Amino acid sequence: MVKKEFKAESKRLLDLMINSIYTHKEIFLRELISNSSDAIDKLYYKALTDENISFNKEDYYIKVSADKENRLLKITDTGIGMTKDELEENLGVIANSGSFAFKRENELKDGYDIIGQFGVGFYSAFMVADNVTVLTKAFGSDNGYKWESSGAEGYTVEEFDKDSVGTEIVLKLKENTEDENYDDFLEEYRLRSIVKKYSDFVRYPIKMDIEKSVPKEGSEDEYTEVVQEEVVNSMVPMWRKNKNELTKEDYDNFYAEKHYGFDKPLKHIHISADGAVRYNAILYIPEKTPYDFYTKEYEKGLELYSSGVLIMNKCSDLVPDYFSFVKGMVDSEDLSLNISRELLQHDRQLKIIAKRIKEKIKNELQLMLKNDRENYEKFFESFGRQLKYGVYSDFGQHKETLQDLLLFYSSSEEKVVSLAEYVERMKEDQKYIYYAAGESVARIDKMPQTELLKDKGYEILYFTDDVDEFAVRMLMNYQDKEFKSVSSGDLGIEDTTTEEEKTQENESKEIFVLMKEVLMGKVKDVRISKRLKNHPVCLTADGELSIEMEKILAAMPN
Ligand code: ADP
Ligand code: MG
Repeated sequence: MVKKEFKAESKRLLDLMINSIYTHKEIFLRELISNSSDAIDKLYYKALTDENISFNKEDYYIKVSADKENRLLKITDTGIGMTKDELEENLGVIANSGSFAFKRENELKDGYDIIGQFGVGFYSAFMVADNVTVLTKAFGSDNGYKWESSGAEGYTVEEFDKDSVGTEIVLKLKENTEDENYDDFLEEYRLRSIVKKYSDFVRYPIKMDIEKSVPKEGSEDEYTEVVQEEVVNSMVPMWRKNKNELTKEDYDNFYAEKHYGFDKPLKHIHISADGAVRYNAILYIPEKTPYDFYTKEYEKGLELYSSGVLIMNKCSDLVPDYFSFVKGMVDSEDLSLNISRELLQHDRQLKIIAKRIKEKIKNELQLMLKNDRENYEKFFESFGRQLKYGVYSDFGQHKETLQDLLLFYSSSEEKVVSLAEYVERMKEDQKYIYYAAGESVARIDKMPQTELLKDKGYEILYFTDDVDEFAVRMLMNYQDKEFKSVSSGDLGIEDTTTEEEKTQENESKEIFVLMKEVLMGKVKDVRISKRLKNHPVCLTADGELSIEMEKILAAMPN
């Protein structure tokens, strides 16, 4: 048996690989399972194109098993296996991908699932193992082979008696160090959770021997431990299923399973896009505000999958800040991944997807407002503030997207209304959209400044959120109607002052001058007001900021 050396550049590359490409060691399992899935896919593809080969899906699986005593972890598959040459080419030359070549040779059409492309994933096994053995027998071949390596020094290949076609990868796990517990990768619970996390939607069954307590025969309260083989992945990605075959319950279950939230989602959005960039997405509008939603700790983002394999847990580029409450996932086969498959190389495709998703969410929210008012109001109660921040942020550039999604409490309707509804109801002679800002609906209702407007039958929007007035200032107008605070100097109401009143006014001037003096610079002016009915006096603001806004700004930490 001659020991062959890795090619010189391969040696360095292997070192680089093992130490720096991946951020999480647990990724090795994702990589090995992906390879197994590719290997089964290749057999499947062969069967599709060769009528002499039959493919019974039940016969194909991946198995993960741990041998704690000997610190061995095995990943077995019933895939296409490797010939001696293939072993040399694929596992002896780093960055050579047999899968990539397979895709090219067979001109695999769109929608094909083969995951491999870079030819490095396999070596991630050395992040957790001192020694890796590959036992394999290729489809259509009589001999099996054993490939073995302890890392950078090289590898050996020898003949090996193997009964069935397929591959078994055996990892001799590293000894624990102070920083890293490799024993953990032998624990059923840990392995299972890694499989679930990254490989849940690999389309072949991933089996594990699971220890279970079952009632002893003939006894009701005595239990005994047995080991049962179980399939631990869900296999068919929910997002690849036909929408018509899925029920609301399916979507709700997926939401819970994925831990998107503890509530029930108000709405789900299922997208299957086949355009310039192909992707599937399942998005949710939650009902309840997550406890940390309005804090810095909250992380927005969607899960990102590439061909069914998880790439990123929270891809924040997929949703704009103002829709940060949206939960869910996106799967696309058109992403260009970097070599670790943890990051994206170009974000062109991602940008396109993000744009579409944004439009879709907006449209769906609008539909919800129109057709499912009750739920929309629940939604707005939880996340409306975020939409209003959205209007205000980035110099108002999202206001077109968001203005029709806003709701405010209305004086005349005594419930929340949209701006469109307000404008629709405006009186013929009414020039402005009036609003009043204050602490609570009850307080605003008593504001003297609202009296005249109410008297004229004008509707007033009540702003009780800090951000309301800032948002509306950013909007400036809606359907060409300007917003006007009830506290602003000029309410735009026709001057109906009679001659008699005018003389009265002139006669009062001296009193006003006196009042201003007494108030010693606390007010800019004292004037006669037309807006009062039951109250003798009220404050108005002439400057850029309203009285309410000044209060908010003064209260903000610097
Ligand atoms: P990639 O999967 O990106 O091609 P890997 O380093 O993970 O790169 O694997 C290199 C190559 O080794 C694969 O392309 C494939 O040809 C071969 N290979 C790895 N694992 C298996 C397996 N379980 N069965 C068959 N071939 C495999
Ligand atoms: Mg691979």
